[in-house]
Amino acid sequence: MAALYVVATPIGNLGDISARALQVLKAVDAIAAEDTRTSGPLLSHYGIGTRLFAAHEHNEAQAAEKAIGLLREGRRVALISDAGTPAISDPGARLVRAVRAAGFAVIPVPGANAAAAALSASGFEGAFHFAGFLPAKSTGRRAALRALAGVPATLVLYEAPHRILDLAADLAAELPPERRLVLARELTKRFESIHATTVGEALAWLQGDEYRQRGEFVVLIEAPVVAKNDDTLDAEAERVLGLLLAELPVSSASRLAADITRAPRKALYARALQLKADGDDDGSET
Ligand code: SAM
Repeated sequence: MAALYVVATPIGNLGDISARALQVLKAVDAIAAEDTRTSGPLLSHYGIGTRLFAAHEHNEAQAAEKAIGLLREGRRVALISDAGTPAISDPGARLVRAVRAAGFAVIPVPGANAAAAALSASGFEGAFHFAGFLPAKSTGRRAALRALAGVPATLVLYEAPHRILDLAADLAAELPPERRLVLARELTKRFESIHATTVGEALAWLQGDEYRQRGEFVVLIEAPVVAKNDDTLDAEAERVLGLLLAELPVSSASRLAADITRAPRKALYARALQLKADGDDDGSET
């Protein structure tokens, strides 16, 4: 059946391609590739001789016409990008839209994606907001960061090595220094590194060794901590505070509980005072 297959390819390690992706790339009549020179070695590594045509950001409309022409002849076409999943900070979305508008099926063949790989190894939980590449110039980047600062989700950014220091400097200028941050570099490659730090410390860490600045980056910034009212400490904060308070004075217990649970220190301190007072009252009665 004529269809466009959107096929994920590796982001570094050639082994990260699915059996289904290989089967599809062999079986289709043509592959639309972001850069035929980049994809050539991958395809020849797997003995795939399917003919390629270019589908990059500057010819996407013509590439879409070409793909639709093939589909009208009843042929099957695959779309791949230089690395990872097409249309994720890569060309492909316009071609996909055109193919769908022409009434043909679009079938995803999922696989590697730098954002998902970084998130999976970050330890950050819950919602995430994929922002991809921020503007290249600092003014635009800082404006984008201001707009993103309050988003209640882990921020996922892509960055190239020549801008990573500038990004780290702008993050420090626009976001609270204590927000946790993970720098995921060269994922699936020989010099892969995943470093957990904070917004306030990331720039100095990167500057500490020029090797830390090399390669491709995913930058993850944990969701902002939402301030809570004194009476809305969650059960975990209550539990941790109670345990610490049994051993420590109010100020140390609330400080440590804030570090552990990330609940607001002020609220914990107030609650600790209250618990202490209640405890003292109980003590005098028994
Ligand atoms: N389509 C790709 C995907 O699915 O992740 C993203 C392509 S985008 C043009 C390239 C950017 O993705 C890089 O600048 C970097 O931010 C990120 N990236 C790609 N491969 C990576 C890797 N191996 N390690 C870390 N980041 C990577």
